[in-house]
Amino acid sequence: MKILIVDDDPTALEIAQIRLAKEPLDILCAEGGVLGLEMARREIPDLILLDIDMPDMSGFDVCQALKGDMSTCMIPILFLAGSIKPEDKIQGLDLGAVDYIAKPFDAFELRARVRAAMRTKHLQDLLIEHAHIDPLTGLPNRRALMERLQREWTSIRQHGGQLSFIMADIDHFKWVNDNHGHEVGDRLLREIAGIFAKQCRKSDMPCRCGGEEFAIIVPGETVSGAAVLADRCRRKIAETSISVKDQQVAATASFGVADSTKADTPESLMELADKALYQAKNEGRNRVETHDVLPKVPIQE
Ligand code: GH3
Ligand code: MG
Ligand code: MG
Repeated sequence: MKILIVDDDPTALEIAQIRLAKEPLDILCAEGGVLGLEMARREIPDLILLDIDMPDMSGFDVCQALKGDMSTCMIPILFLAGSIKPEDKIQGLDLGAVDYIAKPFDAFELRARVRAAMRTKHLQDLLIEHAHIDPLTGLPNRRALMERLQREWTSIRQHGGQLSFIMADIDHFKWVNDNHGHEVGDRLLREIAGIFAKQCRKSDMPCRCGGEEFAIIVPGETVSGAAVLADRCRRKIAETSISVKDQQVAATASFGVADSTKADTPESLMELADKALYQAKNEGRNRVETHDVLPKVPIQE
């Protein structure tokens, strides 16, 4: 884990660094509030030891800036202070700090408080991770999808570029459950999730939206490029089956694809993909439809 120490006094930085040398931590140092804030935004450390009294930017101001920013608001902050007045303690804790350490600090106390903060941070990271993963398939879930889509959207609005979105829904999945049982349905869902994971590039994000619906965010890709990926997934799914007693159980899936050039919000992009998916279902299932007027990707049987 990575810790950032922010103090305007180079000697204090050095002392804190020496005191923490025995802990299994990567230690970063920043001299002053402005540099500290900059480094925190760049490095996203797991914990920040933050001096309160700094001439260029106070620890409270740094803390407020970090807590007001989506990318840094979850970093725990431990204030360092020469003499701590009760009102300062209250202000710091209300700003979202987790703890205080009085300077000059006792080496053992500093280490114990850092370890305690790290334990909490580790649990927090685990909780966040779990909240973003679908337990059945291990794929990112709908929450993870929405967060990533929002981030990608902000990025293309700021820096240009485009992205595509693929929606997929397993065909007649209710039939699989009704005829083979829910457990077999679950096995098939896991198998299909594996196909999505395998067919995607590292920059793509396949996820399970819920039920028997999947989606893929395809950054930097046009609708026709994403339709090629969708069709590859479609073919692999159609070719796959799982053994149940003495028979093979298989399913197909339908796909809708849309890209960001035709939408003005992430939600409208998802709606376009959903409409295309609806069309794929209407036109007989086991096929890929784009919302575009571009030539369709031919279905290879
Ligand atoms: P369509 O081709 O129109 O999509 O038909 P469908 O049967 O797939 O669609 P429908 O929405 O009628 O049924 C979806 C089924 O998916 C019903 C539900 O039992 C099943 N399902 C949803 N989530 C799960 C799950 O986690 N596990 C299993 N085994 N089945 C699930
Ligand atoms: Mg469905
Ligand atoms: Mg379905």
